[in-house]
Amino acid sequence: MTTSPRRPATVATRAGLVSDPAFHAVVPPLYLSSTFAFPELDQRGPYDYSRSGNPTRQLLADALVQLDGGAGGEVTGSGMGAVQATVHALVQGGDLVLAPHDCYGGTWRLLEAFARQGLIRLQWADFGAADIGAVIQQSRPALVWVETPSNPLLRITDITAVAEAAHAVGATVAVDNTFLSPLLQRPLQLGADVAVYSTTKYLNGHSDVVGGAVVAASEETAEKLRWWCNTLGVTGSAFDAFLTLRGLRTLYRRMEAHCANSAALVAAIVDHPALTACHYPGLPNHPGHALAARQQSGFGAMVSLDVGSQAAARRVLDGLEIFTLAESLGGVESLICHPGLMTHAAMPPAVQAAAGITPGLLRLSVGIEDAADRVADLVAALDRV
Ligand SMILES: *Cc1c(COP(=O)(O)O)cnc(C)c1O
Repeated sequence: MTTSPRRPATVATRAGLVSDPAFHAVVPPLYLSSTFAFPELDQRGPYDYSRSGNPTRQLLADALVQLDGGAGGEVTGSGMGAVQATVHALVQGGDLVLAPHDCYGGTWRLLEAFARQGLIRLQWADFGAADIGAVIQQSRPALVWVETPSNPLLRITDITAVAEAAHAVGATVAVDNTFLSPLLQRPLQLGADVAVYSTTKYLNGHSDVVGGAVVAASEETAEKLRWWCNTLGVTGSAFDAFLTLRGLRTLYRRMEAHCANSAALVAAIVDHPALTACHYPGLPNHPGHALAARQQSGFGAMVSLDVGSQAAARRVLDGLEIFTLAESLGGVESLICHPGLMTHAAMPPAVQAAAGITPGLLRLSVGIEDAADRVADLVAALDRV
């Protein structure tokens, strides 16, 4: 009997179910053991030591590989562990890395530190610019780093176009797909070589795990990534994988609610006089709207608002009850942050300004609470400006 490939909602919901050979538990057991017995002196079982491989973590890795349509991958202890392992796996000493100037603050800090240590050469670029293909051709990087939608301004990068330009000069392409998850965007199907995740965000979705993952299009790259994750010691814990598997079961329905709620929220506030800008790819006047509509299967649930000044941002934050002032994103609860003073504080002011991170910018992670309650909360806070 042949079975048709399962659709993403089924893969995510049923990840690892009924895989327990001992008792046929429906929900897979949690294997906390750090070590596994050798059957005989010269024989190895499927697992020997949990840094190198763990049955619970493997179920999560398998599910993510399937969702992304990859050849293999690994689950890491944090998103930054995944970023670090990817850079180590894909560059040789002194290779050039081309990365977006408005990438995740932690990635920015890591790449800058690697460059200062002489491990890589680094070039920042505006990936929203029309000539990004020419920049790639001219600079001939070994690794092209993509983050789309970008953080915090939600600029959209054309993954297919970047991958074509990068492959033409022999470069590898890694896409940080944290903001959308494989349910809304599948970078490997668009031509990228590696998809990188902070599973802390939508994949787990309940703000109770810090974790990450890498998924590669080819078995060869997957093997390199696994080798580096094990060697660096950045593989994830079994307990975190267990919780993330549980979160993954509701990913499909959560993403539906996140997307619908953010669209409703934006519709309710987009014309509010307190706003000097509203960044959301679902708006027809967003510069990446058409591309997002083509490349993504939803506009996501991240929204950034500019209220003009840091003082105005403070008044908005002081007036909110449902949005919690906190870093991170992708959980069921609505969060708001001030990128300039919080998530992107590691960037010097001039670099922030170049990336469009203004003092009045607020980034929202729209949760799945009641939509009307959240609209009323935000409108009341904006009315204070
Ligand atoms: C959070 C985040 C990371 C880093 O992940 P951690 O789990 O915090 O280490 C990387 N990229 C993006 C886009 C993120 O949002």
